Amino acid sequence: MVGKVYIVGAGPGNFELLTIKAYRLIREADVILYDRLVGEEIEDFLRSLKGKEIVYVGKERGERGEKRQQEINRLMKRYADEGKTIVRLKGGDPGVFGRLMEEMEFLHRHSIPFEVVPGVSSVNGAPACSNISLTHPEKSFGFLVVSGRDSGRIKDLWKEGTLVILMGGCTAREVALNLMRSGVGPETDVAVIERGSFEDQRITFSTVKDLAGRENDFMSPALIVVGGVVGLSKKFHDF
Ligand code: SAH
Repeated sequence: MVGKVYIVGAGPGNFELLTIKAYRLIREADVILYDRLVGEEIEDFLRSLKGKEIVYVGKERGERGEKRQQEINRLMKRYADEGKTIVRLKGGDPGVFGRLMEEMEFLHRHSIPFEVVPGVSSVNGAPACSNISLTHPEKSFGFLVVSGRDSGRIKDLWKEGTLVILMGGCTAREVALNLMRSGVGPETDVAVIERGSFEDQRITFSTVKDLAGRENDFMSPALIVVGGVVGLSKKFHDF
């Protein structure tokens, strides 16, 4: 029996911002592969657990990310082949600058079952812990997240980034028309995620153009994800 990999977000570092699900999975797992970014509080907790393999897989100073990733992939496969339950623990949320796609691609290619467990991202976690509201009725109609390296490319975001639209489920048609008017290509991939993370979560893949021709019949709450990453994830949907 092949094991299973849980790709788990550990939150921004404060132990209490670990989710209950992350906590449960960590306690139940046979192996934990964790990064530097999980922080000392969570690392101390991991180290206090008995009867598990706790493996640090963070990058060493000056080490190339690619080489490290290959090593992580090799370990995930090795433990999965042994039938183990593995928690691959990452700082913040796995889907934010977390090489999530690469790890899912690898697991999918080797037919290793996986599940992604969200974490509190530093994107919203660090500002909230600093009393900063990212949106505001007058001062901020949305927020962008970019890496320092790409901070000079903000204007390309609409073409090469990902847009997450909240509070647009019941006006999805109008949203799609607005996007096209704003220059987003009609063939750009879109996913509408209804009741995300609930038992009855539903995801509808489409394009901006097709969404503009659909009825607004999505369940609430729903959000809309727009961009190339949506197309890349379609294949995991039935897996
Ligand atoms: N997946 C992570 C981000 C990984 S990129 C997340 O969702 O948070 C690593 C960067 O995240 C760091 O260089 C830093 O900019 C930011 N970061 C992570 N944890 C942080 C924290 N506790 N406080 C401030 N910034 C943090």
